[in-house]
Amino acid sequence: MAAASVTSSNSVRGVCDYDLLFDCVHCGLCAEACPTYIVTRCEMDSPRGRIYLMKSLAEGCIDLDDDAARHLDLCLGCRGCETACPSGVHYGRLIEGARLFVEQNHRRGFVDRFKRRAVGAIFPYPRRLRMLLAPLKLVERLGLRPALTAVLPRMIHDWLDLLPPLEPDLRPLARGANSAPRTGAPTVVVHHGCVAQVLANSENLNSERLLAAAGYRVVQLEPTSCCGALDLHSGNGSRARDFARANVRALKNSGADSIVSAASGCSVAIAEYGELLRDEPKFVDAARAVSSKVRDLSSLLLDAPAGPKREFRCRVTCHDACHLAHGLGVREAPRKLLASIPGVTIIEMTQSDLCCGSAGSYNLTEPAMARDLARRKADNIVATDADYVVLANPGCEFQIAAELRRRGSRIKVVHLADFLAMASQ
Ligand code: SF4
Ligand code: SF4
Repeated sequence: MAAASVTSSNSVRGVCDYDLLFDCVHCGLCAEACPTYIVTRCEMDSPRGRIYLMKSLAEGCIDLDDDAARHLDLCLGCRGCETACPSGVHYGRLIEGARLFVEQNHRRGFVDRFKRRAVGAIFPYPRRLRMLLAPLKLVERLGLRPALTAVLPRMIHDWLDLLPPLEPDLRPLARGANSAPRTGAPTVVVHHGCVAQVLANSENLNSERLLAAAGYRVVQLEPTSCCGALDLHSGNGSRARDFARANVRALKNSGADSIVSAASGCSVAIAEYGELLRDEPKFVDAARAVSSKVRDLSSLLLDAPAGPKREFRCRVTCHDACHLAHGLGVREAPRKLLASIPGVTIIEMTQSDLCCGSAGSYNLTEPAMARDLARRKADNIVATDADYVVLANPGCEFQIAAELRRRGSRIKVVHLADFLAMASQ
């Protein structure tokens, strides 16, 4: 990292929340909770190192060169450091600001720019993603996907390798969805997300059916826009706010008492709309009200009176999706729900809350680090000898399933909503 020759023009002051940097007392207790530090053992890839980096950039002590941008880019935004930090540092807010600064002030290499633009142009728009995947679906139906993938350039090969099977979704849907809502039952809306509604829609449908079966009144959301998390994580604050406004309008109009997403990353993004739109007087109150209604599926199901459950004999291990564990602070509820199914044995894996490397679109833009983390996660899963890995985020599901596929593992990766639906058959 080069010492700065210019200070004011490239200061992050006013972008990254400068005052928040001083909450960090540099104790380093977050280091062993940080996946990138665990892999590289480099201080600048630790939360404390990145906070130093942001402060140095803010104060104009260093320039934003390739090296500085690289250490910031390598952060997964998993927020494992927030859980570990005794001083309550709002690292998530800091890194989102820093990413915005990097996007505005740093020119990346061609391949990097291409990848980021492709992700930003396709993934938040379900129709575009469906159109792009249509030919691949045909190729898959003809049994030619492995042959096609093998001859494609490395980057496209790696991206396709992460895709789940595209054949029509045959995962079972939960029973009992037509039961009448409980008297005075609260209303719930399931935000269907963008990528999830194309690649993992059974998770949305099963979330709705399970909630309805538990007696909630489920309302539909029209329209559903991307939650904006992909943009927030890649430094496109302006489009993230556009998506947030659209969702605030729709979620407010739904009149729902609780808001659920099958993707924990989307849940956290919605839970932070109040903060994201804090400088917009027209939206801030509605955004805060919407944010306060975010709940996770397992907690809502646990709150409902439990009916009799069928036996489903299997061994299950839980992967804690970063945004569920570190963003919403939910760890016990999914385990309690699984433990309530007769026949289910839960086996804890080592480092269940360490990021699997998926992290939104991180596994597309930072494949080497993402793959390293996927391997570590798969090692920990395989060591449990479980039948299923249950989790609450489609991105983690694709990432972990791809790694287990490469190893020829028999262990199945299943979203909690799909698992509960399967167990109820
Ligand atoms: S972020 Fe928190 S845990 Fe990490 S060095 Fe700063 S104060 Fe310590
Ligand atoms: S968000 Fe995750 S990867 Fe980034 S510094 Fe914190 S723990 Fe490390």
